[in-house]
Amino acid sequence: MLLAAWGCAHARPGALAIHWVRSSAEYRALCLQTYAAAGRAVESGFAARPPRSWAVILDADETVLDNSLYQKERSLAGRGFSPESWAAWVKRREAHEIPGARGFLERVRTLGGVVAIVTNRTAALCDDTRANLAQLALPFDVVLCQTGESSDKQSRFRDVAEGRAAADLPALEIAAWVGDNVRDFPDGSQALRSAPEADLARFGARAFVLPNPMYGSWEKNPDD
Ligand SMILES: [Mg+2]
Repeated sequence: MLLAAWGCAHARPGALAIHWVRSSAEYRALCLQTYAAAGRAVESGFAARPPRSWAVILDADETVLDNSLYQKERSLAGRGFSPESWAAWVKRREAHEIPGARGFLERVRTLGGVVAIVTNRTAALCDDTRANLAQLALPFDVVLCQTGESSDKQSRFRDVAEGRAAADLPALEIAAWVGDNVRDFPDGSQALRSAPEADLARFGARAFVLPNPMYGSWEKNPDD
């Protein structure tokens, strides 16, 4: 019975991963654990800094915004991601918040930090993204979407650090990065999967990874 149910669910694209994200205690606990660690790191390192002299940088999807309903709807339809269906989903502004995100963002704001969201949602979807975040009453200062062809976030990280993210934001020291994709972090790439452990020392200190078994840059890795 259990096997039959699993087999049936697993036959749909990504179904098991989507089910885990949407219904497991472990997913929720991991998100809360990650955000709690990020909050402690920021508080211990930056609480004494002048207000608005530092920032945290977060990815949006599967970091602050939960799009698992989109993934589920596509899976039930026997389809995967498409730019058209994704745009329609973003415009619905129905993404929920990832567990722990609200507490972390509020803690950062209380401590005087700036919240910068750096996302590869396209510029055409940026207003809907801001509206979705505002609708959830999640605090943020700036959302930097992808403007060109490149999904590389490094130049936008530098924009935040060097005071080019928004007219009212000065240069900011980056206290922490949070993301669900290794590319959400400075110089992060799938090469880290086989790099020496020391190269991953930032994780748990300044960089905090959330789980996302539904999609990511890891999908293209060879299966070794
Ligand atoms: Mg993401």
